[in-house]
Amino acid sequence: MARRKKLKNSSLLQILAGIVILVVITIIGGNLDSELLDSLQKDLEVDSLENVQGDDNFSSSNNSNVQVNGNLIVDFIDVGQGDSILIRQGEHAMLIDGGTSECKDDLLSFLASEGVQRFDYIIGTHPHEDHIGSLDDVVNTYDFDTFLFPKVTTTTKTFENLVNAVNNRGKKFTTPLSGTEYNLGEASFKILAPSSDSYQSLNNYSIVIKLTYGDNSFMFTGDAESLSETEILNSYDDLSADVLKLGHHGSTTSTSMKFLNAVSPKYAVVSVGKDNSYNHPTKTTMDKIKNLNIPVYRTDEQGTIECISNGKDITFNVEPGTYSYMGD
Ligand SMILES: [Zn+2]
Repeated sequence: MARRKKLKNSSLLQILAGIVILVVITIIGGNLDSELLDSLQKDLEVDSLENVQGDDNFSSSNNSNVQVNGNLIVDFIDVGQGDSILIRQGEHAMLIDGGTSECKDDLLSFLASEGVQRFDYIIGTHPHEDHIGSLDDVVNTYDFDTFLFPKVTTTTKTFENLVNAVNNRGKKFTTPLSGTEYNLGEASFKILAPSSDSYQSLNNYSIVIKLTYGDNSFMFTGDAESLSETEILNSYDDLSADVLKLGHHGSTTSTSMKFLNAVSPKYAVVSVGKDNSYNHPTKTTMDKIKNLNIPVYRTDEQGTIECISNGKDITFNVEPGTYSYMGD
């Protein structure tokens, strides 16, 4: 009898559970359908992108407005006249550019002091010495998954050293296609440039990315000039970003008013050497930033600038700098 009663109770429980499940499915049915559709769509997007380039690091969605845990840490490293930006999210790390060859010791000791173990990505925005100068030393020191580099070569020793260092790791450059998205932990970034096959100025080969973490976003421009900015404006709708790394060290060649308005940054960063011989940044560029009341952080005044996003808010480890300039 006792056994029968138990059985009876358990089948009653099963029926009750069934009813609850049915009710739940009915209530959230619409959501389930759209989620299913979303995931199917994502699968399709990943497949088609993999077909194009055969890389497995593509992101299928924009992380905008996605709940994130932890922080995104962006360091604009003081490498004198040049660019080098370390980006970390959880265990994931990426380096955009590696300054000149003279900054090698400073750069390597900074990366070591920050406890960097390896890189998911290294980006060489373009082949100029103030961007790839110490990247060969970085590659000789740290393992990495993907090295993004534009499809352009130069005959300099610096470039040759970099190619050899990458080859010695048994790797090669990946040419990013404009529009492609990659994941960096819970952050993602989209390639916005270059989109043409050839340019007169090496600067315009610069890989430009927009990186998104939760509600925050960053625009990293390398040395892209206004011609590349125009191509980006013509190809992409949402260029808004909280932080804009000004193109080409604040030179007049970059940060066209149209591009600046489209990005509409809350903060600007200039990576530039003190008393540099190029007269960067220029009055033209700094006046644009000043007139829009955008706080500017600059490596020649603040040294290495660390900027932390929790996915909602961005904080800097230093106070903003001045709008002073070197050239016109
Ligand atoms: Zn440069």
